[in-house]
Parts: sequence; structure tokens; C-alpha cells
Amino acid sequence: MEKTLSIIKPDAVSKNLTGVINAKFEQAKLRIVAQKRLQLTTTQAEEFYEVHRERAFYSSLCEHMSSGPIVAQVLCGENAIAKNRDLMGATNPANADVGTLRREYGESIERNVVHGSDSPENAALEIGFFFSKLEIIE
Ligand code: UDP
Ligand code: MG
Repeated sequence: MEKTLSIIKPDAVSKNLTGVINAKFEQAKLRIVAQKRLQLTTTQAEEFYEVHRERAFYSSLCEHMSSGPIVAQVLCGENAIAKNRDLMGATNPANADVGTLRREYGESIERNVVHGSDSPENAALEIGFFFSKLEIIE
């Protein structure tokens, strides 16, 4: 069993999509083993997205990610990292496969519904950013 960090982004939380997104995860046999609703400060969003600091979209992305509540969660299952990336779809909703979360609910490349870790190393770092061991109940 593998774990990955998922974030339901402010665009999706504000549209009351938390439940439908969680249903997709559960239908795909991913278990939500930790979950919390919170609002990041811009500084915290900048820290989370540190790897993108030099990119043109960085400040706008961090503004968006701190603009309202998010739902951070740990998903657990077989191949959870790749499975979640498949459910999410391509970064740009316009290029995402039909049926993916980003294609169904994404507004733009920035306001694209969900974040998902892209490797085991980043999953461990990103889970640690939001959750302590005590908060993850498998
Ligand atoms: N992003 C953006 N413009 C871009 C590329 C990315 O606003 O041209 C945002 C988008 O919200 C994306 C996040 O930055 O989800 C992180 O980018 P990454 O390339 O890691 O995409 P992801 O792993 O989320 O598919
Ligand atoms: Mg990424």
C-alpha cells in the first residue's frame, strides 16, 4: 500500500465539490486515511510550491492556493500516487482526459481542482507538510 498527498484546491472547495471528489477517490479504491480543511497563508503556499519558485506562474498560483479554504488529505491504496494522478488528469484541464477531475471541474490551468504528489519522495515530504504521524489512521 502506498500513500499520496492530495489537496482539493480553493476553486473546488468554494464550489462545494469536496464530496463528489472524495466519492471518486473511494470508488477507485483509494482510502482517505487523513483529512483536514484549512486555509494556507501565502507564505505557507510559497513554501509548499517552493520547487516552482522560478516559474512565471508561481506568485499567481500561491495567491490562488491561499485565497480560501483547501482540503488536504492522505490517500492510501495500491499505486496510490499514479492512480491519483490518473484520476486528476493533465495539469491543464483542456488537455485532460474526459472523466478526470480536472476535465470535469477545472476552470483553467491554475484553477485545476486538485493537487497530487508526483513521486514517493515528494509524497513523503508533502504528507509531512500537512500531517503528523498521529493524524494518519490507516
Ligand atoms: N500551474 C499554473 N500554470 C502553469 C503550470 C502549472 O498555474 O503553466 C499551476 C497548476 O495549478 C498546477 C500547479 O501549478 O497544478 C503545479 O504545477 P505542476 O507542473 O506541478 O502540475 P501538477 O503536478 O499539479 O499537474
Ligand atoms: Mg506537480
